[in-house]
Amino acid sequence: MSIIDRSKLTSLIHQKEGHLTRELLLSPGGFGLGKVPDKNLPDAVTQMVCGFCGTGCNLNIHLKDGEGVCITPTTEYPVNLGMACPKGWEALSVLKSPDRAVSPLVKKSPSHWEPVDWDTALSLFTRKFKGIQQQYGPESVAFLSTGQMVTEEMAFLGALAKFGMGMIHGDGNTRQCMASAVTAYKQSFGFDAPPFTYQDLEESDVLVFVGANPCIAHPIMWERVMRNPHQPEIIVVDPRKTETAMQATQHLQIYPKSDLPLFYGIARILIEKDYLDKEYIQEHTEDFEAFAAHVKDYSIERVVTETGLSQAAIEHFAELIHSGKRVSFWWTMGVNQSYQGVRTAQSLINLALMTGNIGRPGTGPNSITGQCNAMGSRLFSNTTNLLGGHDFLDAEDRAKVAETLSIPVDRIPSENSWPYHKIIEGILSGKIKGLWVICTNPAHSWINQGQVRDILDRLDFLVVQDMYHTTETARHADLILPAAGWGEKEGTFINAERRIGRVKRVTRAPGQALSDFSIFKLIAQYWGCSEMFSEWKSPEDVFQIMKQLTVGQPCDISGIENYAAIEEQGGIQWPFPESETEPPDQQRRLFADGQFFHKNGRARFIFSDPTKMPEPPNEQYPFILLTGRGTASQWHTQTRTKNSDVLRKLYPERIYVEINPQDASHHSIKPNEWIFVESQRGRLRARAFVTQSVQPGQLFIPMHYEPTNQLTDAVFDPHSSQPSYKCCAVRILKN
Ligand code: SF4
Repeated sequence: MSIIDRSKLTSLIHQKEGHLTRELLLSPGGFGLGKVPDKNLPDAVTQMVCGFCGTGCNLNIHLKDGEGVCITPTTEYPVNLGMACPKGWEALSVLKSPDRAVSPLVKKSPSHWEPVDWDTALSLFTRKFKGIQQQYGPESVAFLSTGQMVTEEMAFLGALAKFGMGMIHGDGNTRQCMASAVTAYKQSFGFDAPPFTYQDLEESDVLVFVGANPCIAHPIMWERVMRNPHQPEIIVVDPRKTETAMQATQHLQIYPKSDLPLFYGIARILIEKDYLDKEYIQEHTEDFEAFAAHVKDYSIERVVTETGLSQAAIEHFAELIHSGKRVSFWWTMGVNQSYQGVRTAQSLINLALMTGNIGRPGTGPNSITGQCNAMGSRLFSNTTNLLGGHDFLDAEDRAKVAETLSIPVDRIPSENSWPYHKIIEGILSGKIKGLWVICTNPAHSWINQGQVRDILDRLDFLVVQDMYHTTETARHADLILPAAGWGEKEGTFINAERRIGRVKRVTRAPGQALSDFSIFKLIAQYWGCSEMFSEWKSPEDVFQIMKQLTVGQPCDISGIENYAAIEEQGGIQWPFPESETEPPDQQRRLFADGQFFHKNGRARFIFSDPTKMPEPPNEQYPFILLTGRGTASQWHTQTRTKNSDVLRKLYPERIYVEINPQDASHHSIKPNEWIFVESQRGRLRARAFVTQSVQPGQLFIPMHYEPTNQLTDAVFDPHSSQPSYKCCAVRILKN
């Protein structure tokens, strides 16, 4: 029997989605759309932030009859300055695809799902998950969410799942991309605080990119580098000769995973040559002496041996860091997705601290985020942090959040969630019986894919809430809830430089699909905890609650009046507390005053010895497999980008493997020949792309293709629990 009658449900959906529609079409200025266009004025335009990567470009959405019909980049926005990559230009077209989920679907057999109405779907959702919790305890149901939803929805999901439904365990796909940077910043600075602003890309005279390929992964950031008027040195540290490495003034083509000894060796050279900012170290940091003692072990001979670089190249790198007046260090997945990602990120933070390259224009140890709202997830998803960058383990923080939300403090778990891989392991061990997957696709993207697919099938009940009913994960679902996507709902994203930007509803979601916000609201009703969320009426109401949650935090945004203020200012970077009386500058960086977030105000030098590669190449599996982005036109598991006719033309349709000519010749492999690549966990068939981009003994396969993670090894950073996607042992076999 349903908990809510159908007329009430219809009314609720009508209130939420119908109301939005009416606002969108009828109300001038409703939901930030500006003036609703007369249908005779097809050139009406509104603006919003792109929904793909963490760069956070702003886009003009051109409207006809109130509906977004095409996109151009916004010229005056401080992020992208009139530029957009192919994904941004195509952001609307990926919404119109035949595999959109248009109604809730219930599994009837392993390959057959039947459409049902929302009442049936949510009654089933509630009955199944409540039943599991009654039998096995509240922690037996968990959720996996995303860095792709708007922040208000993340906050709603995290609060609903943990405070309303009693779950303890929930993590996000940001664990796959940003967890190492998060942990590194937290330990070193006292808070997860990327210090930079994009203007730094134009103000540096030495830019160091580590495990980052912005030419294709963050092309608009790379455009900002190209605008740099200082003729900067551009140093790329990467085992592959990537598109970015080809543009560098120095490419340090290291042996995979030898970046940590390289940066310790560089630190030793800087210390030996007295290339230090001693005053900065003295005034603003701690543990430098211990760090200096630690790096004594990293002699130039050792670093040459471990990295494969020449002594001259290593010394030249150290000299460039010393001679630069504004040196910036930028990293992304090549660092984070590693069994020692946290310490590698911290080795870059250490270089910035010891040379005083932080808090000034053009400097910083700067982690570039992957997803459009990774930063929103880091602060507000209620997974690794309690809402607003608080700590589940801290009684004062729990009391503060409970008071702000007017909920009993005992509704807030006093323990941390398991990280993503522990949730997966929890399914295997039978501790997790029910899983709710929202806007992410672990059956494609999680490491050692074969294992995770098997594990998902062991669940008593799997719910997938997504725009598409055809994702690899949805194929395992017992219940699919159809969700609206970017462009079909309201909210905010926070980009890599901490800038909050607006997302708007400029088109209707298809069929019965609802915004995630409305789905959460309905689930609260069905679960019987809607009272707790009576103030969470609209995304902007939730934004006001989020503001209150951040008061006194490093990420304080209490000074942002409302959505309109975000738009007027061209996005607003956190922090922006209520005490700020002037409008914020458009380019703001952290730590200009040398004050960090640890209690003593100092940044910490953190270090430890490198660990051995978990699965080095061996006789049976003699190659190291590297994975990463393929092109600027592909996004993650391609659920969206494969739905654009334009984007599909811009990348190779079929999976390929990069192989060095020397290895190809040795194995008599011709260009474009189909070969097998095999690890201990699986085998795939790929076209050989014979190229000097990879070194002998190494292979590269883009992560976007479905079979890639059949090969990867489930190994994790011990501090961040981030998966180590970037190296495992494989072999090649002729077709
Ligand atoms: Fe969108 Fe990122 Fe491309 Fe900018 S660079 S248009 S944010 S995908």
